[in-house]
Amino acid sequence: MLLGKENEEGFNRLELLDAILPIYQQLILDIDKQGVEFLQIDEPILATDLTVVEQQAIKRSYDYFSTIKVGLKYILANYFDGYGKNLELALKLPIHVLHIDVVRCSLQLDDILETNLLGDKVLSLGVVDGRNIWINDFEKSLQLIQKAQAKLPDDQIWLGTSCSLLHVPYDLDLEVNNTQLNNEVKQWLAFAKQKLQEITVLKQLVVNGKNDETVALFIKNKSANENRKLSTLIHNNAVKQRVANLTLADSERTSQFSIRQELQHKALKLPLFPTTTIGSFPQTKEVRQTRAKFKKGEVTQEAYDAFIQQETEETIRFEEEVDLDVLVHGEFERNDMVEYFGEQLEGLLFTKFGWVQSYGTRCVKPPIIFGDVSRSEPMTVRWSSYAQSITKKHVKGMLTGPVTILQWSFVRNDQPRSVTCNQIALAIRDEVRDLEHAGVKIIQIDEPALREGLPLRKEDWKTYLDWAVNAFKISASAVKDETQIHTHMCYAEFNDIIESIAHMDADVITIETSRSEMELLKAFVDFEYPNEIGPGVYDIHSPRVPSRAEIEYLLDKASSLFPYKNIWVNPDCGLKTRDWPETKSALKNLVASAISMREKVGSTV
Ligand code: GLN
Ligand code: ZN
Repeated sequence: MLLGKENEEGFNRLELLDAILPIYQQLILDIDKQGVEFLQIDEPILATDLTVVEQQAIKRSYDYFSTIKVGLKYILANYFDGYGKNLELALKLPIHVLHIDVVRCSLQLDDILETNLLGDKVLSLGVVDGRNIWINDFEKSLQLIQKAQAKLPDDQIWLGTSCSLLHVPYDLDLEVNNTQLNNEVKQWLAFAKQKLQEITVLKQLVVNGKNDETVALFIKNKSANENRKLSTLIHNNAVKQRVANLTLADSERTSQFSIRQELQHKALKLPLFPTTTIGSFPQTKEVRQTRAKFKKGEVTQEAYDAFIQQETEETIRFEEEVDLDVLVHGEFERNDMVEYFGEQLEGLLFTKFGWVQSYGTRCVKPPIIFGDVSRSEPMTVRWSSYAQSITKKHVKGMLTGPVTILQWSFVRNDQPRSVTCNQIALAIRDEVRDLEHAGVKIIQIDEPALREGLPLRKEDWKTYLDWAVNAFKISASAVKDETQIHTHMCYAEFNDIIESIAHMDADVITIETSRSEMELLKAFVDFEYPNEIGPGVYDIHSPRVPSRAEIEYLLDKASSLFPYKNIWVNPDCGLKTRDWPETKSALKNLVASAISMREKVGSTV
C-alpha cells in the first residue's frame, strides 16, 4: 500500500489495511495447509524512511500475522539498502527470520549485532549480490559471516543472495559459444545458477574451513577478483585521465538559454508550434526479420545496409509529405536504444542468453559495462547524415543519453557509478560533436531512465541528481549555441525533480503528457520552466488515432500554460511499436492541428 498511489487527493491508503489483513490471513492459512515450513514476506519499503504512522502499520500487520494459528514460520525480507531507522522496529517484529542485504549495506550487520534485540531470531545474511552479475568476493563475505558467528550460534545464521534472483540472467554456462565472453571475462561473472553455487561454497568454507576441496575454490575466487583489478581489458588510462580532467566548464553551454534560443530561432527558421517526432518509426516485422537474418549471417552487410537505407529514405519522404518540420531518420538500424550504442562502445559486452524480466512479459538483455568506456568511431553519423543529405528540412540526430545507458545495463561495481557515467557521457559528447560537424543542427539525447535511478532514500537524491544531470550536460555541452539540444523522457513524475530537469538545460524537452491531459505539466508550470517544451499530444501506447479536435484541445491547454514560442508539437514517445497506417493518420492530424494553432494565435505572437 505504501508504494501505491491514491487517485483521490487526501485519501489515506493505510485505511485499507483492515480490509487487506484478513485476505492475507486466508492466504497464509492456505499456504500453511500445503505444509510449507517458511513463508517469506518481502517488505522492501523498509529500506525507505517511514513515518511513525507507517511504522505502526507495519507493526500492526505483523502482530496480526502472529495471531494466525499456523505452523509455518515467517521470514521478513528487506533489500536494496539497510533497514536504517526502521531497524529497531524490524528487530522487534514477531517473525522467525530477518533477512538483510549486506551487499548494499554491510554496516547494518554491526548495528544488529550490537543491539542484542535479535533474540532467538535467525539472521539471514544476503552476502551474494542478487542485483548484479559479478562474482562474489569470498574473502569479504567470510569476514561478514565471521562477524555474525562471533555473536550468534551457527544455527541462527543463514546465507543467501541479497535479493531475489529475478534481476540476473539464468546461467553463465549457456554462453559457451559467446566469443565476447572469453575465459578472462567469464571468470569475473556469476549469473543466477553460479550465485547459488557461490552460496554453497561459502557455506562449505564456513562449516568445513579451508580443506583441500574448498581451498582451491577460494583461491580461484581470489585470483579472479585480483585479475579484474588489473586486467588491461578493463583499465584504459586515457579514459580515466579524461574523466579526471573534466572541469565545470565542460558541462556548460557557451551562452545561457535566452541567448541560445534567439540564435537557434534565427538559424533554424522553424514556424511557431514546430512539429517533430521522438525518433523511431514503426519497426515492422520486415525490419525485425531482416535484422535477425543479418545477425545470423543470412543477409550480407551490403544487402542489410541497402535495406536500412531504403527504409530511412521512405520515412524521410513520408515525413516530408505530411509536412513535419523537424524530421528524424527513423532508427531502423537500431534493435534497442541501449544495445545499439552498447555494441559500438568499448568497455561493454553482450550475452547471448542473458535475458531478464523488465516489466510484465517484456524481457531485455542488458549490456554488461565491465570496463572503462570509450568510443572508437562515430556511432550514428552515417544514418543521420544520410537522412540529412536527402532532404532540405532539418533532420534531428538521435542519441541515447549516458544516464539511460548506465541505468539499463549491469554496471561494474569496482568504481562509483558516477565515474562510469561520466565515461559514457564523454563518448556521447564526442558523438554529438561529430553530428554537429556532419551538419546536423538539432540533436536529441534521450534520458528516459533518469528518474528511475533515484536512490530509495530521499536524503540520497541530491547526490545522484547532481552527478546524473552533470553527466547529461557533459554529453550535451560541446556544441555551438546555434545547435539545438533536445532531450526526451517518457512518463515520469516531474514534481519532485523539476529543478534538476531545469538544470539539464536542454533547449527542448519532449515528455509524455497526452493520457494525463497535460496534468504532468503542472510541475513545469509551477516552476516556470524556462526552456522549450514538447508535451506529447499523441498517445503512442495505443493504435488509436487521435482526432484533430483532441490534439487541438491539448495544444490549447499547453498554450495557456507556456509562451507560444516555447511550445513544440510531438507524440508522447517513439513510434517503434506502432503500425504504419495509424502512424500516418495520427501524424497528419498532428501537423494539421499545429497549423491551425498557428492560424489561431497568428497575430498575437
Ligand atoms: N528515441 C527513442 C525512440 O523514439 C526514444 C525511446 C524512449 O523514450 N524510450 O524510440
Ligand atoms: Zn519515451
